[in-house]
Amino acid sequence: MMERGEILSWLRQDDPRELERLWGLADSLRQENLGDEVHLRGLVEVSSHCGRNCLYCGLRRNNDGLERYRMGEEEILACASRAAELGYFTVVLQSGEDRALDTGKVSRVIRRIRQELPSMAITLSLGERSTEELALWRESGADRYLLRFETSRRDLYRMIHPPSGDDSTSDRFRILHQLRALGYETGSGVMVGIPGQSYSDLADDILAFGSLDLDMIGSGPYLPHPDTPLGRLYRAARAGVAGQVPNSLEMACKVIALTRVVCPQANIPATTALAALDRESGYRLGLQRGANVVMPNLTPPRYRALYQIYPGKAGLSGEEEQHAAVAGMIAGIGRRVGASRGDSPNYLKRTATAHKQGREMKCLQPQA
Ligand code: SF4
Repeated sequence: MMERGEILSWLRQDDPRELERLWGLADSLRQENLGDEVHLRGLVEVSSHCGRNCLYCGLRRNNDGLERYRMGEEEILACASRAAELGYFTVVLQSGEDRALDTGKVSRVIRRIRQELPSMAITLSLGERSTEELALWRESGADRYLLRFETSRRDLYRMIHPPSGDDSTSDRFRILHQLRALGYETGSGVMVGIPGQSYSDLADDILAFGSLDLDMIGSGPYLPHPDTPLGRLYRAARAGVAGQVPNSLEMACKVIALTRVVCPQANIPATTALAALDRESGYRLGLQRGANVVMPNLTPPRYRALYQIYPGKAGLSGEEEQHAAVAGMIAGIGRRVGASRGDSPNYLKRTATAHKQGREMKCLQPQA
């Protein structure tokens, strides 16, 4: 495991020749642990409603200027089928924290995907939900859950992610532990370059990925949204503050590379936010610096433009066009599109060990 001091010094490193060593190390660890396949996950943004008021996010409840939508069951199913037609083995259902996406509705959708597309893995990213809901969705057939903790620094987290009226106890670390105990392949991640975030904070975030033993880790640069309080503050403080982590492509790539070093067997996406920062080479650089997953957006175009977490979101082209561009880029860097579900080796190893221990415990029990 890389020590905190070394992580910090890589985060501060800006000599391109030195950074080549970090990119090379991350890429060789990716190759050694996950091979050359790049897994494509079809992203479906099922609802843009949200009851929260995160200071950085365009979907925040108080953003009145945003037209909201919520997809129906048939529409979600059609997107999952489209993912299968394109040869994807995972569909990711993502939304704001939308209470109208209730337990029963989500459960029905999961069961139908499981029944109609049995080889499709189902990832949920629906925000903070109750243990009962998470357990029911897991029983219904959901495989994975993504919940980014955004920053491990408590005061910064509470500042950018204020608790909502009915919940003053938001604790994403606790929920991540619950997800793991429920048997989900568990994913999280952070924003890079949040105003007020220091290099030390970011080093702690990367170490937290390791101590949480995550299976999927998606991090991307903070992209300021002009209609949010944090976006307005960012504009006002453009001159920058000493010790502030930049929200640059290079810094986001450093986080991807160091994440690969700390969690060599996790699935790590080159996130859409990377591509939003640099449409030409965002995905490619992420994949060459430790990542092994891309999430093409399969949300119907009329909704996709409304899912404005941040402005200038990549992936507004048609599905075919998007797929061809991503597949071409993957071939161009000598890699290939994944031909299986691409479960995280970290998860497979953990669950195999748990099963083995379960079998051994059974053998040790006295026979009747
Ligand atoms: S970050 Fe998530 S929980 Fe916060 S406002 Fe945006 S969609 Fe809602």
